[in-house]
Formats: sequence, structure tokens, C-alpha cells
Amino acid sequence: MSNSENAIEVTNLVKRYTDLLALDHFSLTVKAGEILGLLGPNGSGKTTTINCILSLLTFDKGDIKVFGKEMKPDSYDIKREIGVVMQDVAVFDELTVYENIELPLVYLNIKPAERNRRVKEVLEKVNMLHRANHLPQQLSGGQQQRIAIARALVNKPAILLCDEPTGNLDPANSNEIMKILNQVNKQGTT
Ligand code: ADP
Ligand code: MG
Repeated sequence: MSNSENAIEVTNLVKRYTDLLALDHFSLTVKAGEILGLLGPNGSGKTTTINCILSLLTFDKGDIKVFGKEMKPDSYDIKREIGVVMQDVAVFDELTVYENIELPLVYLNIKPAERNRRVKEVLEKVNMLHRANHLPQQLSGGQQQRIAIARALVNKPAILLCDEPTGNLDPANSNEIMKILNQVNKQGTT
């Protein structure tokens, strides 16, 4: 039974890529406020699961609910509540750190003063305020990942979905990212 105390409910998800059965009746529940890590070797279906949850992929069977509502490709109200950090760091090289993070707020027609306040707030969260005017190429991989996290958080999503956010990082940078994600969770993000 559906329960909006649950942020994400995946039930009996089946996903085939032509002949390959990528997900075979996979189920998962993430309670609101919880932090959950999905562990599995390469090719076990983690990215497929995330893309199905985001309705970026169609699936063959099963049911996906976010805050109790069925997730569909045009569920923009739900999608606005989900921040995403994809497997490969995706930042715009020609934009500064500040501009990268501000961009989603520009698309959402948020006024400049409010944009400025929010960008600074998330840059502080990821300890990158001092790098606001740098270009991504001037930053390390770990710092770039922190920018991607800041951008995913800038519209205050209820849920933050990260696909291997520490995958390409050394242990020190991985620890830093995990610390930031734990803090973000303590401040209320699922
Ligand atoms: P993970 O993220 O856990 O490494 P994936 O979800 O990327 O796993 O992949 C699950 C399985 O589905 C793998 O066997 C992979 O090769 C296959 N797969 C993923 N994406 C596609 C695709 N677009 N077309 C065909 N097979 C795919
Ligand atoms: Mg993957």
C-alpha cells in the first residue's frame, strides 16, 4: 500500500533492454528523511533503477511512486522535488562555478536577488564559496563534483538522487563528498 511517508517506492520493477533482463522484479523503499545507498557491482542495474525512478527510461513491469504519487514522464511537480547528480560530472565548462549553480534558477524565473542568496547558501554547504568565480577546469574532480551537488540542491529538492557520486574520486575527496551528503541529509533532504 502506498504511503507518503515513503519518499520513493519501487515495486516489482522489470526492465529489459531487448534480450537483456536488467531488473527482475526489483523493489525498494526509501522513507522520507532517510539516506539510502544502493550497492551492487557494475552492470547490476543501479543506473537503470535511477533512470526509471526519474522516468527517463520506460520499463516493462512494476510501479514507481514518489511521495505516494505515480511517477510519469510528465510528472513535473514531482520532478521539481528531485535533485540529480549523474555518474559523470556534468558541469558547463564555459560557465563559472556561480553561473553553473545559478542556471536552474534562471530557467525557473527566480528573481536575481533570491538567486544570489540561494547560490551562496548552497556554495557554503559544499564549502566552495571561495571558488564562486572560478571556471570548472580550474577545479579538481572532487571540487567539480561538489559543484554538481550544489546545483542539484539549489532549488531545494526534497530528494537528492546521486549516481556513484564518488566513483571517480580518491579516498580523501570521496570522504569529503560523503560528509557533505550526510550533512545535506541531516538538514532534511532524503
Ligand atoms: P550499474 O549502474 O549498476 O552499473 P546499469 O543499470 O548501467 O548498471 O546496467 C544494467 C545492465 O543493463 C548491464 O548489463 C548493462 O550492460 C545493461 N544496459 C544498461 N543500459 C543499457 C542500454 N541502453 N542498452 C542495453 N543494455 C543496457
Ligand atoms: Mg551505473
